[in-house]
Amino acid sequence: MSVRFHTRSAYTAAVFVSALLAVLSGRTALGYALEGQSWANATTTFSYAIPGNNGIWASALQQALADWTSVTPFTFFGLNQYADPCNDSSPNGADFGTTDCGMAFGSGTLAVTTYSFDENNQFIRASTVFNSNVAFSVYTGPLQNSSTDFRRVAANEMGHALGMAHENDSSIPALMAPLVSNIEQPTADDIAGVDALYDSVAKPVSLASAVLPSSRSVQVGATATAFATMVNFGTQTGSSCEIDLPGTMPASFTYQTTNPATNQLTGTANQPIDIAAGASQSFVIAVTPTAAFGSTDAPFTMTCTNASPAPSSSGLNTLLLSASTTPTPDVVTLTATTLNDG
Ligand SMILES: [Zn+2]
Repeated sequence: MSVRFHTRSAYTAAVFVSALLAVLSGRTALGYALEGQSWANATTTFSYAIPGNNGIWASALQQALADWTSVTPFTFFGLNQYADPCNDSSPNGADFGTTDCGMAFGSGTLAVTTYSFDENNQFIRASTVFNSNVAFSVYTGPLQNSSTDFRRVAANEMGHALGMAHENDSSIPALMAPLVSNIEQPTADDIAGVDALYDSVAKPVSLASAVLPSSRSVQVGATATAFATMVNFGTQTGSSCEIDLPGTMPASFTYQTTNPATNQLTGTANQPIDIAAGASQSFVIAVTPTAAFGSTDAPFTMTCTNASPAPSSSGLNTLLLSASTTPTPDVVTLTATTLNDG
């Protein structure tokens, strides 16, 4: 079990500029600021499907992820699925709330990003709650008084989710300033911060993965299936990539490639496959319990012969599986077709 620490970063509305500037003016100018933690492989997934507003929030958050990925060595792998930010076993994700998972928002707070990390200062999970009492809309151009642009707020929050803290030198233009402003995209200062965090992370072949759904219950002898995706963020082809289930679970296991557009099987069962740089591969995985067991996180190993395994994160690329000797209703509906590489 990893040690988990929690940190919160709140983003504040511009109306409090004067009060905060008075406080900040006494601080030393150091340029960008880092939270002190980072993702092990310069990448993570983030679920962007915030419900409502005809998908406008979801697409704005998806764009905010791309705002960082397109100009820095860090890669967000956006997932078109919902992940509850207030559920600690949920994948990285975001939603609106009248409170930050039960804690009152501070005065003028637009959103709060919370993350957990292990004793090696590597991120475990990051999530964001946007303040539903704020009048948000999505627009480009100067900040308007009547409503706050959701996308640039989301971009600030995603900066926290990758390891950036607030730029507290108000003379340096930064998306990571503590107050929302006319700045809509990562600036040179923001990018320098991400470079400092991740430039040294060698990633000729760098893997991320996701599994949907995240839990199944079946009878012993019956097969639980799920969809898995492996993504190679590196600059070289991943060789002989495969999925394994550690032998500690009393179950047989197979995997097979699929066509991500149709979820139809392709290739051959248990056949490793190369994954080109920048490409993803979808799979069906099938677990058949040979004995009864209670809810157990099946930590699949997804790796290539020339890569470190994709980082494992409970609920994100694990499958909470239980097997019983009597028929059990499998309460989770397969909705994996919503997975895409956004
Ligand atoms: Zn912030």
